[in-house]
Amino acid sequence: MENNSNFIRTIIKEDLESGKRKEVITRFPPEPNGYLHIGHAKSIVINFGLADDFNGKTNLRFDDTNPLKEDQEYVDAIKEDVKWLGYEWEELHFASNYFEEMYNRAVLLIKKGKAYVDDLSQEEIRQYRGTLTEPGKESPYRSRSVEENLDLFERMRKGEFENGAKVLRAKIDMSSPNVNLRDPVIYRVSHATHHNTGDTWCIYPMYAFAHPLEDAIEGVTHSLCTTEFEDQRPLYNWVVSECEMESTPQQIEFGRLNITNTVMSKRKLKQLVEENYVDGWDDPRMPTISGLRRKGYTPEAIREFVKETGVSKGSGVVDEAMLEHFVREDLKMKAPRTMGVLRPLKVVITNYPEDQTEMLNAEINPENPEMGMRQIPFSREIYVEQDDFMEDPPKKYFRLFPGNEVRLKHAYFIKCNDVIKDENGNVVELHCTYDPETKSGSGFTGRKVKGTLHWVDAKSAIPAEFRLYEPLILDEDADQNAEADTDEALENEAEGKTFLDYVNPNSLEIVHGFIEPNMKDVKAQDKFQFFRHGYFNADPKYTTAEKPVFNRIVSLKSSFKLK
Ligand code: ATP
Ligand code: MG
Repeated sequence: MENNSNFIRTIIKEDLESGKRKEVITRFPPEPNGYLHIGHAKSIVINFGLADDFNGKTNLRFDDTNPLKEDQEYVDAIKEDVKWLGYEWEELHFASNYFEEMYNRAVLLIKKGKAYVDDLSQEEIRQYRGTLTEPGKESPYRSRSVEENLDLFERMRKGEFENGAKVLRAKIDMSSPNVNLRDPVIYRVSHATHHNTGDTWCIYPMYAFAHPLEDAIEGVTHSLCTTEFEDQRPLYNWVVSECEMESTPQQIEFGRLNITNTVMSKRKLKQLVEENYVDGWDDPRMPTISGLRRKGYTPEAIREFVKETGVSKGSGVVDEAMLEHFVREDLKMKAPRTMGVLRPLKVVITNYPEDQTEMLNAEINPENPEMGMRQIPFSREIYVEQDDFMEDPPKKYFRLFPGNEVRLKHAYFIKCNDVIKDENGNVVELHCTYDPETKSGSGFTGRKVKGTLHWVDAKSAIPAEFRLYEPLILDEDADQNAEADTDEALENEAEGKTFLDYVNPNSLEIVHGFIEPNMKDVKAQDKFQFFRHGYFNADPKYTTAEKPVFNRIVSLKSSFKLK
């Protein structure tokens, strides 16, 4: 984004040039009711990126005004993820630390005749609100006196009323064409323990009232949010102005990020976790920052991806292949090359001396020669991939079959002579011969073979587990359908289908194979490119000193082309 212009950057630039603003302060305001996902990464990159471009500041603020859904676990995870993405916040705030000030501002509204305590139930309030085409109806409690409202609001705070018995509403306009302005609820009673304020409060401000106050209290200049808040902007401005806030932040909306075959709302991600569809918030199939990290994504790849998706008012669906493109690009230079056999088939090289092992030399990363060389042992018994042998191959099959010769990467040509089977007729071993003349790097030009196979030395190879992933959600526009009025969403609703009906039962495959012995010190989060298989990450939860467990981050090939 740094060198790209976008409409928000243009607004900020004009604000600075015209003197409307002297500095730029943005904030990233997650509610700690779940883990961050890649959509949040977009908000983070935009908020931190824009402030940074104008020598401004960005705060991390926990928008924690709903005690029932929030938790310290989420606070900790969010901080870790923002830091991991490479950003440093200027100030750390909790909206809950402003509860006293928010209360005082609500009292100010009451004194000005701009807020009243309402006894209507939630359902009645909804009915009185009207619709897009019909004006709303005024509550019978709307004309309570200032004194009565002050008294009732104070008693709400003291805990004299049950949940839902009373609310505080802004007194704006029940016939406004903007439904958000029809006397929105700004405080509710909720007898619940808050993760930060404990039992100090039993009334809590609503988002639409709290958020503009939080921004104003912190001196935020540009309050960036997603387009579903566009209709709330007039209310945002009303709150800032009627509460007589000194600082006047400006709300600007941008289109949210959606990705194919992905659900992004925290509510749904939480459901996947709680109903055990996945192995926690950081399951590598999750679009969470922690899931992508555990899968093997790098902060650089995520940042570059998000920047490429741009900043606009529209919210399209981005192909997940684009996200994969950026991690491939990032790991190309960084990840050591190695060989791993995922589904092993033993090969005995019958003309290779029984107790001999030779060390072969190979570059750690041919794209980045500075990474140096590695040594690969080779001896009489090796493993190749089961898929790389066919007893009765179709035309144009260039891998191993009886009588055919192939190249072993970094080693020799081998030729398949015998196929050994068990009593059930399954192939259990191949007997091959090698040609010492054909050693890799020897300049041999005698004859050519078409297939090059990866392999590992059977005697010294390290056992490893490989976890291969497919999309968790088998619905291309799952996220958009979440937002409701697409034809498909309406159809689904009619059929009683939810996103859970699209969960892929085969999203994880676990196989057991072997890796090169020079990888014996693999640590959690180490990343490699396994020849022909793609990029893998050592899983931080399951990798042990005895046995590494690798998550496939992404395969090597893609038809995706960046425009
Ligand atoms: P969710 O619906 O997933 O819970 P949210 O918007 O309720 O998301 P918050 O914790 O309130 O989550 O979001 C913090 C910030 O991240 C908000 O400014 C929000 O607009 C932004 N954000 C959330 N999802 C996306 C997305 N998919 N694309 C861009 N920004 C997003
Ligand atoms: Mg939310």
